[in-house]
Amino acid sequence: MEDLQQIRPCAGEFPATQGRGKEKRLQEYTESQQLRERMDRIRHKIMVLSGKGGVGKSTVAVNMAVALALEGKRVGILDLDFHGPSIPKLLKLEDRRPRTDGHSLLPIEFAYGIKVMSMGFLLPDEKSAVIWRGPVKMGAIKQLLSEVAWGELDYLIIDFPPGTGDEALSAAQLLPESDGAVIVTTPQDLSLTDVRKSLDFCRQVKMKVLGVIENMSGLVCPHCQGVIDVFKRGGGETMAQEAGVPFLGRIPIDPLIVEASDKGTPFIYHHNTTEAAKAFSKAILPILNLEEDKPMGTTPVVDEKASQNTSRIAVPVAGGLLCAHFGHCETFALIDVDHDLNVILKREDIPPPPHEPGLLPRWLQEKGANMIIAGGMGSRAKGLFDEQGIQVVVGASPADPETIVNAYLAGTLMTGENVCDH
Ligand code: ADP
Repeated sequence: MEDLQQIRPCAGEFPATQGRGKEKRLQEYTESQQLRERMDRIRHKIMVLSGKGGVGKSTVAVNMAVALALEGKRVGILDLDFHGPSIPKLLKLEDRRPRTDGHSLLPIEFAYGIKVMSMGFLLPDEKSAVIWRGPVKMGAIKQLLSEVAWGELDYLIIDFPPGTGDEALSAAQLLPESDGAVIVTTPQDLSLTDVRKSLDFCRQVKMKVLGVIENMSGLVCPHCQGVIDVFKRGGGETMAQEAGVPFLGRIPIDPLIVEASDKGTPFIYHHNTTEAAKAFSKAILPILNLEEDKPMGTTPVVDEKASQNTSRIAVPVAGGLLCAHFGHCETFALIDVDHDLNVILKREDIPPPPHEPGLLPRWLQEKGANMIIAGGMGSRAKGLFDEQGIQVVVGASPADPETIVNAYLAGTLMTGENVCDH
């Protein structure tokens, strides 16, 4: 029998962070985990941006959401326009207030199953957010993204305030996996100049531009239904071409859009034979055709600060205790730990795939494990874990996995003989 050894976590691998409170770190970690879990259940996230106000950005966002829902997609709309949230107005939901279930904020359900959340539901009055500065907005956006119970969605359409301010920047940072932005403009030069800024912004934050929509492009004659060019047309298309991004189409001015917006009845549904509705439907085709099979759960870690000193320890378990032969375990306890605080952050138990030589190290690596604490292990398996960059600790005695990991974190884990018999 080998002598018992005391296993200490390697301080060099997990340098301690100075001066950050334990509670704050735990809260940061929990928030970023929650945000990741929520966002992992949403397949496509689409940002709707515009260079200036009044170009019909929110109208496009709403009609895009309805068009997608009419195609059978599960859709949510998140209105991040703190200074003039218009989604509640456009959907006639101004008087609604979201409920909570104690943990999450429940979105308001609109027709066609569309789930809606807006800063407008949460602010006591329209002036409240005007004085908010960047970090407060960032916090509010993060909270909205992590606390709203969207459930599984095919699309989340995010409506931003005009311009490229704090809101768009925060969302770009918090949702690096988003599908990209739809930029709405009108044909006049002034608005085209502003939209160039949106394109530059997307380039800077590495957000893909899904396309440009030229709204209010010509006027539909109420008598003959022909399109009259009020302002000039085509500027949006030329600009999209110059920038090398897709042009999604022109939507004419239609008085029925104003009427529908004022009544809170989605235009695209109630007037689906009009030129403008057809243009909307065509404009969203590329969004509808975004890869159907994009897997859920591809959200990268969003909060570098909160993840820099954490790791995931795998412990094979049978009958609730560490299992001496990891190849025969019932589940793996995957335990997330924080090395600054020396605490367990989260535990998840998952059954391993059917036993097959050499499979487990790869599988655990895919699950994000950095270390395995086992009773015993053959030298071949140890080599395979090494190849996957997973540190191996052997010789731990059967005990509750969390007790083992806590002992490891405290530097008091005692390991003995490698009990591998093959
Ligand atoms: P933004 O979000 O860019 O500030 P909105 O979507 O709130 O703009 O639209 C501003 C106003 O313009 C609303 O009253 C809306 O009904 C109207 N509108 C938007 N697009 C059109 C259009 N194609 N034809 C007629 N009115 C439109």
